[in-house]
Amino acid sequence: MDYNVVIVRFGEMSTKGKNKRDFVFRLAHSIRLNLRNYEDDYEMIIRHDHIYLNIKNKIDNLVDILKEISGMYSFSLALKIDPDLENIKSEALRILKEEKGSTFKIHARRIDKSYPYISDEINRAIAGNILKNTDKIVDVHNPDITLDIEIRDDGAYLFTTTVKGMGGYPSGSTGKCLMMISGGIDSPVASYLLIRRGIEITCIHFASPPYTNSGVIDKLEDLLHTLNKFQPKIRLFIVPFTKIQEKIYEISTEGYPITIMRRMMYRIASRLAVRLKIPCLATGESVGQVASQTLDSLNVINEVTNMAVLRPLCTYDKVDIIKISEKIGTYDISIRPFEDCCTIFAPVKPKTSPHLDECRHIESKFDFEPLIEEALNNLDVRYIK
Ligand code: ATP
Ligand code: MG
Repeated sequence: MDYNVVIVRFGEMSTKGKNKRDFVFRLAHSIRLNLRNYEDDYEMIIRHDHIYLNIKNKIDNLVDILKEISGMYSFSLALKIDPDLENIKSEALRILKEEKGSTFKIHARRIDKSYPYISDEINRAIAGNILKNTDKIVDVHNPDITLDIEIRDDGAYLFTTTVKGMGGYPSGSTGKCLMMISGGIDSPVASYLLIRRGIEITCIHFASPPYTNSGVIDKLEDLLHTLNKFQPKIRLFIVPFTKIQEKIYEISTEGYPITIMRRMMYRIASRLAVRLKIPCLATGESVGQVASQTLDSLNVINEVTNMAVLRPLCTYDKVDIIKISEKIGTYDISIRPFEDCCTIFAPVKPKTSPHLDECRHIESKFDFEPLIEEALNNLDVRYIK
């Protein structure tokens, strides 16, 4: 059906009381950003319960664009018309004639209580007219076509489909975190889930050239470009990690290099986060996926920081992570071959239950503080937008 307005619903965030204004404002901002190439083609009206986009010229891919904005529960492409009942009757008949299917249901809602007919009267008037003028029949349980009619103070809104949005919260509305990003499948998916929850991500990557090649950075930039659909600007900090990593392999006892390496990553990330005034860390870790992701390992690794560490994938199966990565478009980039610092230095048999005492003992064998400081003083930063 043709439409001249989009009704945007907030869903979960409408329960957020006094923060709601801020949420709605951020959602409106995200919509503007995502529709920045179509500024002249629509007009935005912000109301307490919905955002309306009055469409002046048809926007290509409008549905696809709106589906990728976090904080949007659902939206409908509607035809806004004069609410006179005779007018609604004739427009509804026209729409029903165009729609495929032999059964229908009219679902009217009188939101403007001053409207002279109640919902049931509207339903009956509209349905009666359609029954009289078409072969279609009513099926209230499983109709081929559902025509929604919302009577509001500024007009009647007619629509036949409601599209599920991305859900979650608007970009940046719930806080910030420092996301540890590798070049694999998991961390971009974790990033997406955080962004969808309204968390603004800044990324940190540990690079160990020449063991890892510069292709990793291109790959990361491509991954973050893909995530720009959901968060338009992402900062990426690249930590020179080679010296620390070489040192770890020199002094580590068997099975411990990965654990010690990850403890160093957490230490560096925590310190960078403090400098950036970011209160949380995040990773793509998933319980049980590899040796460093057993609960015992996670505990020992986590011991070096007192920041909250968000692990959005912690309960996800790999197949489900892959499905999300395909959906958001990061999968094909993630599977490009690359040498990650973990894969290169991975010991034959990493410990699944590392001991904290052993980690402390290994770490006491070298003064890592100056190396951490040196790494933090030589960060490379990029802005992906
Ligand atoms: P991914 O697919 O995200 O690479 P993975 O299954 O390969 O994850 P690991 O390599 O054990 O798992 O890494 C677990 C998490 O640690 C990653 O999801 C990421 O958050 C972080 N991480 C690993 N390597 C790096 C790195 N070089 N730089 C920054 N973070 C990293
Ligand atoms: Mg990895």
